[in-house]
Amino acid sequence: MAEQQKKYDLLIANGQVIDPANGLNARLDVAVNEGVIVTVARGIPKEDAKIVIDVKGSYVTPGLIDIHTHVYPLLPSPSRLYAIEPDSHMLRSGVTTAVDVGTAGWRDFLDFKESIIDTSQVRVLAMLNVAAGGMVRMISEQTPSDMHPEITAAVAKQYPDIIVGVKAAHYWAGKPFDDIHVPWASVDSGLKAAGLADLPFMIDFCPNYESPGRSYEELVLEKLRPGDIHTHVFAKQFPIVDDNGKVLPHMRKARERGVYFDVGHGAGSFWFRNGKRALDDGFAPDTLSTDMHYASVKPAGLDQLLLMSKFMNMGMSLEDVIKRSTSEPAKLIRRPDLGTLSVGACADIAVLRALSGDFGYVDCGGARLQGDSRLDCQLTIREGNVAYDTNGLSMPDWREAPEEYWKMPFLPGPGQKA
Ligand SMILES: [Zn+2]
Repeated sequence: MAEQQKKYDLLIANGQVIDPANGLNARLDVAVNEGVIVTVARGIPKEDAKIVIDVKGSYVTPGLIDIHTHVYPLLPSPSRLYAIEPDSHMLRSGVTTAVDVGTAGWRDFLDFKESIIDTSQVRVLAMLNVAAGGMVRMISEQTPSDMHPEITAAVAKQYPDIIVGVKAAHYWAGKPFDDIHVPWASVDSGLKAAGLADLPFMIDFCPNYESPGRSYEELVLEKLRPGDIHTHVFAKQFPIVDDNGKVLPHMRKARERGVYFDVGHGAGSFWFRNGKRALDDGFAPDTLSTDMHYASVKPAGLDQLLLMSKFMNMGMSLEDVIKRSTSEPAKLIRRPDLGTLSVGACADIAVLRALSGDFGYVDCGGARLQGDSRLDCQLTIREGNVAYDTNGLSMPDWREAPEEYWKMPFLPGPGQKA
């Protein structure tokens, strides 16, 4: 059959397909054409595809979604040391959609869009910081007069395909801010913006148990609405489990109310003491997210796969860690078109394998958990194109490489975007 007449651009063959959105965990092939998933079935004829990638022994999942990242470096600013570059850091761990949460507020959103969102191969979505200056102008998050719910909501409505939520963060307790802080100004402003824009609200919360009061219990039981998200759930400052390792009643009540809990691991927001105990008592986080930024990536190479591996070694099943990195984050950001291998969906695909051996996992308090498995990314497909292929699965043996490969000025590999 002539190349042009073939039905599929790409066939991912012989993998174990795990697609929680469709309840799939089976040995299946996935066919892609023009950037879209067109067939998921057993025994799709190889001759119907221009490129066939045999992934026997690997898992095929929807491209992963990380709903807490920081990828906007405002230049010139100290923040350039903070953000990470999405394509080089995320495609290698199977992540095809990253949500930047609150690095930019409305004041810098257009620059963020033009410099990063529009130019990255990773699909970058955003939760807009209710503070006009976002995190890149850090004092903005401490300044109630800088919080603009109406403008934030108006900008969000202008970009419904990109802006998937409102974020508030880093409203510290303690000196000197106690003197100038209205306790709930940051949370209330964020909730107002999210309400006006009809979007979820994500909070990185700083409780203040001294005076004036701003308790975690009040946040999750009274302030947050169903569909809102508390990120950094296993940071040490939150009352999650009691001394006997039992999950506290307000956590279960909040979940019953429809509040979501996200990991947001980061450099200082994940402790086994809270996370492992909560998991053992049946309280899994709704979503796994990295909070990737310079300081969280640098110490131990944090990325989405390492986080998923950590949770597997804490006792979560493979299917569960995939669900909490695909269909669940898609649900939280109200984008059910993402995180799925449904026919008609954008062909964002991750090919993973599970390695066995001695592996250690660390938390943000210098503690370690011994493990025996780790997930490894073989291949990442973004919109039907091979975006990451560390083992050359999509490439021919060098002795059989077509002559035209040699003549090309630069070739990133077949199936890739030149
Ligand atoms: Zn963060």
